[in-house]
Amino acid sequence: MSLIVQKFGGTSVATPEKIMAAARKAIRTQQQGHQVLMVVSAMGHETDHLIELAKQITDSPSAREMDMLLSTGEQVSCALMAIAIQTLGSKAISLTGAQIGIKTDSTFSKARIKSISTERMRKSLDEGNIVIAAGFQGIDEEFNITTLGRGGSDTTAVALAAVLKADTAEIYTDVDGVYTTDPRQLPEARRVKQISYDEMLELASLGAGVMHSRSIEFGKKFGVPIHVRSSFTDIPGTMIVAQPEAPNQAVCGAALVKDEARITLEGAPDKPGISHILFSRIAAKKIAVDMIVQNVGAEGRANISFTVPTEELADALAATQEVAAEVGAQRVTSDDQVAKVSVVGLGMAQQTGVAKKLFRALADAGVNIQAITTSEIKISTLVSREQASIALRAAHAAFTLEKEPADAGKAGEGTERHGTAADIVRRLQGMEGLSIDEITLDDSQARVTLHGVSNKPGIAAQLFEEISAAGIFVDMIVQSFGVAAAATISFTVPQKDFDKSLATAKKIAEKMGCTGVTSSPKLAKLSVLGVGVRTNTSVATRMFESLSAAGINLDMMSTSEVRLNIVVEGSQGKKAMETLQKAFADAL
Ligand code: ADP
Ligand code: ASP
Ligand code: MG
Repeated sequence: MSLIVQKFGGTSVATPEKIMAAARKAIRTQQQGHQVLMVVSAMGHETDHLIELAKQITDSPSAREMDMLLSTGEQVSCALMAIAIQTLGSKAISLTGAQIGIKTDSTFSKARIKSISTERMRKSLDEGNIVIAAGFQGIDEEFNITTLGRGGSDTTAVALAAVLKADTAEIYTDVDGVYTTDPRQLPEARRVKQISYDEMLELASLGAGVMHSRSIEFGKKFGVPIHVRSSFTDIPGTMIVAQPEAPNQAVCGAALVKDEARITLEGAPDKPGISHILFSRIAAKKIAVDMIVQNVGAEGRANISFTVPTEELADALAATQEVAAEVGAQRVTSDDQVAKVSVVGLGMAQQTGVAKKLFRALADAGVNIQAITTSEIKISTLVSREQASIALRAAHAAFTLEKEPADAGKAGEGTERHGTAADIVRRLQGMEGLSIDEITLDDSQARVTLHGVSNKPGIAAQLFEEISAAGIFVDMIVQSFGVAAAATISFTVPQKDFDKSLATAKKIAEKMGCTGVTSSPKLAKLSVLGVGVRTNTSVATRMFESLSAAGINLDMMSTSEVRLNIVVEGSQGKKAMETLQKAFADAL
């Protein structure tokens, strides 16, 4: 029998009337011949309210008790939902995370799911019940209640859909689908009919709050079609599936994270092992570092910048200061008034000139780019928080995201479950555990770096306009945060375009008064591909650790939700590959 998971977010269960409306929806679905598993969030702003209550007692409540507290919100709404369904004459049973057997690790407030038992849910479904699961919660080995992180009910829903092999996970919310950017930020945003897992995963992790990014990891890992739609209208909404909306679209969406903070470790010795010490110390605090801009060093010293959510700044800063003292770095600076604006699209992996279009739009809007990182399907820029909205609007307009692409609907859906039954079982055992798909080595590229780039709008735009005019495909771009009013911009190009790229960079450097250009005609780019490689902080730690033990220095690096890229000298490529393969042997 077919099974449909229906998740209702906070606004969709905010009042008894809305709970009744959701209950009717579930009953209707059951009457159409499906089994129905509901997942509910806490009512309205209940989670915020509970956090506020704790804050009235102390600024630093213990993490365990916060999870105990927050999980009550979902317990209330799932019981009310069961009562509503029963009142309407259908059979229903509500279950907490613990009653279902959603086992997690013990990282309170951002626990990861380790396993889910399906027995009780199956039995209740087979007995004709609509089963209502409390979202966002689980239990650890010691039966402590844990929560999955804000917005985590989406993850509960898609994870349950995965283990029960549901036909779809329907996510009912207060918008009628996924938009090209948050429609509350930009009214001109357009609802998309379809978006790929990879794109949604990046967008969610880059600020598109409509879906919890880890829910998309599950969707992708287990091939669960996710249908985002409104609780209040019958508009068809958005399908999150394997294929994008349009096969040739360079950019499908833009996202903004307003509450980022930047930390820079300045003047660290440029030798293997520094990143390892720094990021393992931060990972030990379970802080997922976001934009890492580590650039080619000069005069034996390198600067490493990264961003973290503002609320983690104090912890991350303390760890960085400790490391600075240990390794003899010159100083640590930070800025809690930055924001990150990103564009995402599968198509940019094949098209030239995508980056320059973004940089030009930002420059024309008078926005100074403080740092840049790219991965295959996203470009992120760090800007001042003051300019965040202007930057988002400029980015959205640059790619005419308000208009439906001409080839929309031509990519197909690709919703079939991937993997054999045995494969799915193997993957399910790890649930949110680390799963690395492959490690790749690309030794066909070269690097060019401009040093002493002045910190004002328009430099990146001019540079990449010239490069793109020469028909060169730029792969990775890293612009470091400017220390002493000067930044460094590195980019990689195919080796055949090296001479042309270097000449162009030299011309621009002279025109703009940069202090110099360095380059490397042959480099090796290594990528660790998987799902959740950024948020699983152990991946970066293991990578840095193994490379540092092998004495390999990193030239550049960039991260995304699905890959970690590093660039090393060409001659070290093979050794780096062997090192990484050994380091991840158990996860491959
Ligand atoms: P729920 O409580 O149902 O989980 P959320 O508040 O978590 O709802 O998510 C829905 C909200 O996500 C919308 O109200 C919208 O403001 C925001 N949002 C952010 N980015 C996007 C986007 N790209 N598309 C649609 N909504 C978005
Ligand atoms: N109630 C939790 C929150 O507000 C989880 C969720 O709604 O997804 O973050
Ligand atoms: Mg949500």
